[in-house]
Amino acid sequence: MRQRFGLPVFEAGWVWLAGAGPGDPGLLTLHTVHGLAEADAVVYDALVDDRILALAKPTAELVFAGKRGGKPSPKQRDISDRLIELAQAGKRVLRLKGGDPFVFGRGGEEALALVEAGIHFRVIPGVTAGTGGLAYAGIPVTHRDTNQAVTFVTGHSAAGEVPEGLDWEAIGQGSPVIVLYMAMKHLGIIASKFIATGRNPDEPVAVVSNASTPDQKVLATTLARAAQDVAAAEMAAPAVICIGDVVRLRSGLDWLGALTSGRVLDPDPLGEKGSGAEQGGERQQRPNLA
Ligand code: SAH
Repeated sequence: MRQRFGLPVFEAGWVWLAGAGPGDPGLLTLHTVHGLAEADAVVYDALVDDRILALAKPTAELVFAGKRGGKPSPKQRDISDRLIELAQAGKRVLRLKGGDPFVFGRGGEEALALVEAGIHFRVIPGVTAGTGGLAYAGIPVTHRDTNQAVTFVTGHSAAGEVPEGLDWEAIGQGSPVIVLYMAMKHLGIIASKFIATGRNPDEPVAVVSNASTPDQKVLATTLARAAQDVAAAEMAAPAVICIGDVVRLRSGLDWLGALTSGRVLDPDPLGEKGSGAEQGGERQQRPNLA
């Protein structure tokens, strides 16, 4: 595979910081599959699927670096130190993270620690949950008729609280589609913040948990009802939450639902055919404000 695609040699003493995608092994990149096949040590997070880890060499050392059974996760510094230690011992180290290592994944922090220690590294982007996970629920993050911008937001600060450094008003008023990561715990507070900025309480919301895995669940709700519906449906993390009109496209684009449960797809999910909208040129694209 390496020669065929001109993939780089995984040199001893290097760290490859790779994305594993949201879950489905089919969403791995060739670089990550190649890295798994060559690595002497794989340092992986909680969100990495076992089927993906099974692609590592039988002799590879597998090092778990995530949160397990309610125990606190290892300190970021300890993970970086471990990567440095393994690389300095001459191993080929694959640092495997869920989704994309540079999207809410602390990949930048780990890479900077490697720079400081003088360790060579390569970054392998992955399919991030906020786009790939939503695609598995039949939601495109952008669509010409609904939004020309999208904002990715974390619902969780380093201290585990609702992030304080964000201009919620600017995001609420300016972004037609908002995709939340790590927001299950504070969903009620976050939804209220957006409603307070003027967003329509009835705006469509989709919550997609365990996206692209056999346990994927999708909940369709609204901004005002999201938190209570999530609780009633007993949905749990990891989940991405999409707020905006683009969620309406799901009735036309839920390809996985069509495949697994025979859902009949609506070719006109936005109800525009025949309204002249398609000949009408640019449509106004504003956030769904009340
Ligand atoms: N680097 C990752 C994000 C890590 S933060 C990425 O690019 O996807 C962890 C958050 O990612 C979770 O709380 C959740 O919001 C989201 N996430 C990761 N995997 C997911 C999945 N399979 N389904 C839904 N959300 C997921």
